[in-house]
Amino acid sequence: MTLELTHTLPALPYSHNALEPFIDAQTMQIHHGKHHQAYVDNLNKAVPGTAAEGKSLEDIMAIMSTLPVAIRNNGGGHYNHSLFWSILGNNGSQPSEQLSEAINAAFGSMEGLQEKMNTAGTTRFGSGWAWLSVNAEGNLQVSSTPNQDNPLMDVAEVKGTPILGIDVWEHAYYLHYQNRRPDYLKAIWSVINWDAVSALYAAAKAH
Ligand code: MN
Repeated sequence: MTLELTHTLPALPYSHNALEPFIDAQTMQIHHGKHHQAYVDNLNKAVPGTAAEGKSLEDIMAIMSTLPVAIRNNGGGHYNHSLFWSILGNNGSQPSEQLSEAINAAFGSMEGLQEKMNTAGTTRFGSGWAWLSVNAEGNLQVSSTPNQDNPLMDVAEVKGTPILGIDVWEHAYYLHYQNRRPDYLKAIWSVINWDAVSALYAAAKAH
């Protein structure tokens, strides 16, 4: 196996305690260092001998219906968490003018978006994700997926390019919030890196 065929854990772009008090350092250590690392390791074990061999993560998502379930779970886990770390931060940023206009057009306001995302995350039974994505028409949409699925997968009910994903697995919040998923969802809006989300939005629109 050559290096470019191996998937690797991306470094966190900030320290483990950077998202305190909204997301605690111990949760970040376990979530990134143990959970995400396990998705990467298990993906690398599952890929050899399949059509996912030599493909980028994004390209793997597009053919997920043809691949073993271990690649769906662990490839999804790797993609989703890589995106998640990149759209979090404690930098006080705001959505770009373009993204802000698109949010207002689709959801009425930032509060409207947050309410829709939090409902998607709260009503997802068991483990999964809430997503803000850009659909084929270039419009913003909110959806949720079970397990480690995401809107890039050909198996997704609602397909699009994700620009913001919120992990609603218990491992994302249980140490600090116990069973209070709605409290976690309310808090996470304080640590969204809108510069990163705005850049993903611009890239998705240019696609
Ligand atoms: Mn997670």
